[in-house]
Amino acid sequence: MRKLNNFPFAKVLVLGLAKSGTAVAKMLNRNGVKVIANDLKAPEDDENVQNLRSHGISVIVGEHPLSLLEDVDAIIKNPGIPYENILIENAIRERLPVLTEIELIPYFGIDDIVGITGSNGKTTTTTLIYEMFKKADYAVSLAGNIGHVASEVAEQMDSNQTMIAELSSFQLLGIDTFKPRIAVLLNLFEAHLDYHHTLEHYQNAKANIFKNQTDQDYLVYNADDHRIVTMIENAASTLVPFSHNQVLLNGTYCDDQAIYFRGEKVITLDAIALVGEHNLENILAAISVAKLHGISNHVIETVLTTFTGVDHRLQFVKEVNGRKFYNDSKATNILATTKALSAFNQSIILLAGGLDRGNEFDELLPYMANVKALVLFGETSPKLRKIGEAKGIKDIKVVDTMNEAVQKAYQLSDEDDVVLLSPACASWDQYKTFEERGNIFMESVHKL
Ligand code: ADP
Repeated sequence: MRKLNNFPFAKVLVLGLAKSGTAVAKMLNRNGVKVIANDLKAPEDDENVQNLRSHGISVIVGEHPLSLLEDVDAIIKNPGIPYENILIENAIRERLPVLTEIELIPYFGIDDIVGITGSNGKTTTTTLIYEMFKKADYAVSLAGNIGHVASEVAEQMDSNQTMIAELSSFQLLGIDTFKPRIAVLLNLFEAHLDYHHTLEHYQNAKANIFKNQTDQDYLVYNADDHRIVTMIENAASTLVPFSHNQVLLNGTYCDDQAIYFRGEKVITLDAIALVGEHNLENILAAISVAKLHGISNHVIETVLTTFTGVDHRLQFVKEVNGRKFYNDSKATNILATTKALSAFNQSIILLAGGLDRGNEFDELLPYMANVKALVLFGETSPKLRKIGEAKGIKDIKVVDTMNEAVQKAYQLSDEDDVVLLSPACASWDQYKTFEERGNIFMESVHKL
């Protein structure tokens, strides 16, 4: 196990005791850092609270006393905690560093990192890159937003391993020295505005992925996304652009036959199993990283001919009497749903709705030509109903449960239709996670 080296803080407040907070508190504690942990919502008898106390860590729950700031050098906060939190606001005023746990990675001496961020496609691209590295027999560890606390992974890594890390804007906001050797910027559009408030703020968070890079590091970026192109103008990194509509001899691109890296043909398009134009972006990004690491075209091809996608992302569930059911529960924002709608030529019964983040859904309109019926649920159903009415869709039903939604969708469908769960909203108004929402959808489909 690696040791934390030259970590500049002797006393740290860990804020938020979900999975990553608990892991970080224990990790700092075993590396000789004095830790205080605080969580507003966890009850005294919470399993994580008990666990930390059994390691001798002081844990305060149920309140955020400002006095906690008097005795610490820095805060490591859960990425989901907003900067309006009273402790965070006061810490910033008092110039205490406010970090997220990915900032610990460099102090474990890990620098061979591929970091992937963007509004959409992170998990798909991260998984693709990981599969390519594995197939090439490289030693790799998967980390970050994809379900493995990144600093905990860093602590366990061998020196010859590469970390493949999925990074969210929330995590990237809390870095100071962290940098990936290869950064990937997939795309950027309005998302998480409840947290970041403005697009500029969100964009700045994403730009942190390359802020510490030098010309020794690579920045793989989407040259078709105008916001990204503007954003990277001042990057010091070695640029590796990718595009699906322009020839880029310093990067990765395609024509209607094949994909090329720096002018060399890598794979023909008809060998690729993954569907959807958006996935082409993810593939171009993954190929860029693989080629920068010297992975052969043969290995890349072996992965791309077999990889059909990650669960809950346009996942084919089942055909019932000629209707095809797809689970795209991971479509937690509007762009993702437009991509899903674009992937089909058939008539679609769309199941949508969820947490209201203050978005209007006008951007869906141009993609709804094939939508013949809407089944809506959750906080945003009134807004989505308006959009459906504006599009002239006659069958619009609002339901309370996913099971009802699936039943209704089936009744409204005909043979050869697609029934698509692609909610365009987060799930937290009705479900714990998008996975739970997708699983309930799939169970309901299997019951039909
Ligand atoms: P993330 O981890 O960034 O949320 P995922 O790979 O899990 O991304 O995909 C989430 C959703 O976004 C899926 O429903 C998919 O249809 C859509 N999506 C995937 N890749 C892209 C892309 N490159 N551009 C736009 N939408 C995408």
